[in-house]
Amino acid sequence: MRYVKLGKTGLEVSEVGFGGIPIIRLSVEEAVAVLRRALERGVTLFDTANLYMDSEDKFGVALKGERQRVVVATKSIKRDRAGVEADIHQSLTKMNTDYLDLFQFHQVSQEDDLAAITGPDGALEGVARAREAGKIRHIGVTSHSLTMAVRLVKTGLFGTIQFPFNFVEEGAATEFFPLAREQNLGILAMKPFCGGLVDKAAVAFAYLRQFPEVIPLPGWDTVAGVDEVADLYERENVVTEEDRAEWVRYREELGDKFCRRCEYCQPCPQGVKITPAMLYGIVAHRMGPEQAARFAAPIMETVKECIECGECVERCPYGLPIPETLQYHLKLFEEHCRAAGKDT
Ligand code: SF4
Ligand code: SF4
Repeated sequence: MRYVKLGKTGLEVSEVGFGGIPIIRLSVEEAVAVLRRALERGVTLFDTANLYMDSEDKFGVALKGERQRVVVATKSIKRDRAGVEADIHQSLTKMNTDYLDLFQFHQVSQEDDLAAITGPDGALEGVARAREAGKIRHIGVTSHSLTMAVRLVKTGLFGTIQFPFNFVEEGAATEFFPLAREQNLGILAMKPFCGGLVDKAAVAFAYLRQFPEVIPLPGWDTVAGVDEVADLYERENVVTEEDRAEWVRYREELGDKFCRRCEYCQPCPQGVKITPAMLYGIVAHRMGPEQAARFAAPIMETVKECIECGECVERCPYGLPIPETLQYHLKLFEEHCRAAGKDT
């Protein structure tokens, strides 16, 4: 494992980090075992979010006694000062620490989000105060929209940017990485396994390691999974013809049905939360059905309001069959609710 500087934050981090979603579906003991294995294998960057249910609590248990040698990152979806201050307090408590190395504004994919964050009494004020008080060291941002990512980098407000990047979602490499590098931002890549759609680590990381300035954040849920990726980082990256053929095969297979979370389809006139609902199946795969049904209930309820007007389909740059896909995910959600013994 090599260690690199995370852009202008100056934080020294392992060249691959730990993403905190999949441990949600593990027991505390299992999650701690996976997190500690990552530490043993040299991973020092641990990224989670206030939104990821008990992920921060599990980080807190696993990283106890290791605070000095790890870089802890989390995120808040709140856009107002009071909301973000409450989230910071909660993250510090759950993770059993006095400070967060990196605090990120979560999923800033719409212009309105940025306006609220930077406006009067917005979340940026709360985060700036927390930084002055020593509770936060650096401020970052995450997004799923290329247009917004470029915009966010240009604001000069952030030390890092986190964006989906893998061999299927390659847009960032040309669209905003050059700009982010120019401004010396730390670049974090979420979804290295295409959001759980790809299970071949060697194929996924052969692609990612061509971009050494980008730190991937795989979400692991097994010790073996940690070892598989850590072993790859023990040797030089060699991209084989087989890897390239696999990239092409996956791109062709996923191309017409893979939601990139770009959010160009929104807003929906009926209030349907299209993007997270389109991803329900992936979330259920990563969190486990019961947890996902609980987590996604407020989102999936909005799908019932869809009147199949087709406005979102016209706006989706990938031409995805959104209304049908939403109904598919709604059925899946309802099955999971029934299995968990809950009414929908
Ligand atoms: S088709 Fe459904 S989800 Fe799409 S814009 Fe119309 S009501 Fe909203
Ligand atoms: S449905 Fe289409 S427009 Fe909406 S987030 Fe997914 S890929 Fe983007």
